[in-house]
Amino acid sequence: MKKLISILLIFSVSITIAVSQRYFSDSDTTKLIILGSGTPNPSPFQSGCSIAIVVFDTPYIIDFGPGLIRKAAAMSPTYGGKIKGMEVNKIKRAFLTHLHSDHTAGYPDLILTPWVMGRDEPLEVYGPEGIKKMTYNILKAYEDDIRYRLYSSEPANDKGWRVNSHEFIKEGIIYQDENVKVEAFPVPHGTWPNAWGFRFTTPDKIIVISGDTSPSEKIIEYAEDADILVHEVYSKKGFDSRTEIWKKYHSEHHTSTYELGEIAAKINPGLIVLYHILFWGSSEQDLIDEISAKYKGKVIAGRDLDVF
Ligand SMILES: [Zn+2]
Ligand SMILES: [Zn+2]
Repeated sequence: MKKLISILLIFSVSITIAVSQRYFSDSDTTKLIILGSGTPNPSPFQSGCSIAIVVFDTPYIIDFGPGLIRKAAAMSPTYGGKIKGMEVNKIKRAFLTHLHSDHTAGYPDLILTPWVMGRDEPLEVYGPEGIKKMTYNILKAYEDDIRYRLYSSEPANDKGWRVNSHEFIKEGIIYQDENVKVEAFPVPHGTWPNAWGFRFTTPDKIIVISGDTSPSEKIIEYAEDADILVHEVYSKKGFDSRTEIWKKYHSEHHTSTYELGEIAAKINPGLIVLYHILFWGSSEQDLIDEISAKYKGKVIAGRDLDVF
């Protein structure tokens, strides 16, 4: 009986996961996957901030919020998903908007788990000033684990745990290969000195990712012809219930639904996907209604594992 119950449980869990995935993509070439739509708040329904862009079968990760590797695995054929580029040992390139912990708490996972699963070349990471130091310190923190895996009876290669970190300091193209061109642009994020957004150009899509930002002219400049603008947002209704001190913080660091509506009306992108969403008790529909007060185009509140 116990066995039967556990089988039923496993069955119902896998059904729940399957139902919670939404598929919006119209492209065989480029897929945008929300690995984590969350913020520093540890919502069980929103993993930490992370996105994957998969071009053909090559993945590019943007931001390393906690939970990203589990969410990538959920999309991979190994775990019943359909996206080959989400096999975790294929994850070799990653881009970071800024070093805040909700965007980097998954960094050790990004370095180590794909290696343990067989990645046999170094991770290439592109991030703002400070990424080299963070990378060095993470590898230092895990040196005993790395040494043990390399020199115990565990089969492990000596390349996949390594990281080549590249710091970009200037606006413009920071990476290019046969699948993508990646441009970085600075965004305002309170007094945090080094926050960036990205524009990915693939063979068939232009995708702009806001990163963490208050309303930014740069977004308008870079997202003018975007097929998809992935933009952070907080609920205005939720914001109104916050204390004055938090209101000051959020208005300096982030973008409200009304502000995003105004930005969107100037750009008119093909689709806006909301991520890094601060709900504070509001619903997805509340957010969309607030944005719709200023903007009539298509807006979807991103959920973990959505494919665009
Ligand atoms: Zn953040
Ligand atoms: Zn931030």
